[in-house]
Amino acid sequence: MQFQSLNIIEPILKAVKEEGYTIPTPIQVKSIPIVLKGLDLLGCAQTGTGKTAAFAIPILQLLKANKTFSKKRKIRSLIVTPTRELAIQIGESFDAYGRHTGLTSTVIFGGVNQNPQTKALRRGVDIVVATPGRLLDLMNQGFLTLRDVEIFVLDEADRMLDMGFIHDVKKMLKVLPKKRQSLFFSATLPPEIIKLASTIVHNPEKVSITPEAPTVDIIKQYVYFVDRGNKNNLLLELLKDNKIKTVLVFTRTKHRANRVVKILVRDNIKAEAIHGNKTQNARQRALKNFKAQTTRVLVATDIAARGIDVDDLEFVINYDMPNISETYVHRIGRTGRAGAKGTAISFCDAEEKAYLRDIEKLITKKVTIIDNHPFPLIDHNPVKSPRQQRGKGKPAHPSHSKPKSDENKKPRKWYRKSKT
Ligand code: AMP
Repeated sequence: MQFQSLNIIEPILKAVKEEGYTIPTPIQVKSIPIVLKGLDLLGCAQTGTGKTAAFAIPILQLLKANKTFSKKRKIRSLIVTPTRELAIQIGESFDAYGRHTGLTSTVIFGGVNQNPQTKALRRGVDIVVATPGRLLDLMNQGFLTLRDVEIFVLDEADRMLDMGFIHDVKKMLKVLPKKRQSLFFSATLPPEIIKLASTIVHNPEKVSITPEAPTVDIIKQYVYFVDRGNKNNLLLELLKDNKIKTVLVFTRTKHRANRVVKILVRDNIKAEAIHGNKTQNARQRALKNFKAQTTRVLVATDIAARGIDVDDLEFVINYDMPNISETYVHRIGRTGRAGAKGTAISFCDAEEKAYLRDIEKLITKKVTIIDNHPFPLIDHNPVKSPRQQRGKGKPAHPSHSKPKSDENKKPRKWYRKSKT
């Protein structure tokens, strides 16, 4: 199917062509007609599926078709997303697909001076893409009103709940017009998300894209068993390969991300970290350098990297195995996008083997083991965590506790003591 068959208007078709898209992705094929009909949508899909265009294209088309004639532009569409990086990327997509429509958009997020954002709002915009905190803040200060919103999008709803934005979302719902079109997207649909969705979308059309298996299938996946103390050496060894032009490396904590960057930089490898402790400007700069390939290695924690979209990213390295299997799928989904090549390499120490087993269960296949490398796993009984020392037996494991992000947790003592 071509984009033309989706009844998209010429100015948007032109922009889509300029973006180099020829064939709509499955979520676009399913969602665009629904949104164009003015219906509510409940979409189960994650980034990497072409989800942004699936809502941005029809929103632009609807806004363009139903012109308003007020002097100042009003906020007619609001897209709320959990992270600054996602907000910026969605904003860029609206700019790209809407470049021939005459519609305007702006992005609102915290951690930066609000003045440029309030200036844009004062001039008037048709579309606002925002993270919840700053949006409510500017609304409370009287810089914006949501009373003219015709189309509301809640993006990455599951992550929104994980990050504690539920109250902010409820506050928004109180001020949004009751009569509106709502689109709700989430990568997963557990009961609490369904409950939240029921307060936002009414009689929604449901669209489900499960990219997990297909995405994972096209990505080559390897695991290296290695002692924790040798992970840096293994990383340096792999980076001797010039084929790895750029690589996104995941660590479980901000602290570890900084340590890895330090070691790489000491070895004259251009590396930067991206995590929640960095200022917004530093994060944006790091991402820009990485996209421009002036930074070879971007070391990221999961929350900071959520939704990072780098064209042609071929390599992802899990320096630490994620303790939540779905996180593994999200991480490696940064590569192999839109049919491109992808390679995911995981470093697994003795204590992380349980995580690998869980991941393999989720992806329903075995990850290929690379065993002829210079730093094979020797220490099969590494220093135990305090929990294990207290005789609890099994390593701390996600299925024994509520899944949480590690990003804001202090590194555990037995991690700090380690040589890495
Ligand atoms: P998203 O899921 O919105 O984060 O999109 C993932 C990536 O796919 C982005 O780099 C988009 O630019 C790209 N993309 C979206 N739609 C298409 C399409 N129809 N053809 C090719 N690439 C696309």
